[in-house]
Amino acid sequence: MNLALKTNSSEYQRVHYEWGRVYGEPSNYICEFCDNDAKVKGWIHGKDPHNINSYVPMCRSCHNKYDCVHFGEKHHNVKLTEAKVLEIRRLYSVNYPYITYVELGRLFDVHHETIGKIIRRERWARI
Ligand SMILES: [Zn+2]
Repeated sequence: MNLALKTNSSEYQRVHYEWGRVYGEPSNYICEFCDNDAKVKGWIHGKDPHNINSYVPMCRSCHNKYDCVHFGEKHHNVKLTEAKVLEIRRLYSVNYPYITYVELGRLFDVHHETIGKIIRRERWARI
């Protein structure tokens, strides 16, 4: 299993410098996942983080979604998925003010404070 490099580590900087030397700016490319202009280099999770070919050009939005789906679901919060978070926000907005954080928490088996944070976008702000 390959783990992500810390963004402030010298190895991260080396890999990104090396990528730039070989491929130039990410903005020269189209995003790997959509047709927008790429803005950043995104690490393909699970691939060797020391190899520049494990990084592909992505637009910011796809990069955020990609990291959110992979890190958000697998590491930060195993109970919630992107789909559930969107459903929580949808249910809250549709039923407001007749639904409480506590009820939503019971529905999705998460603490009501977590529901509040999701609604206020203090958690899962990227989706
Ligand atoms: Zn994109």
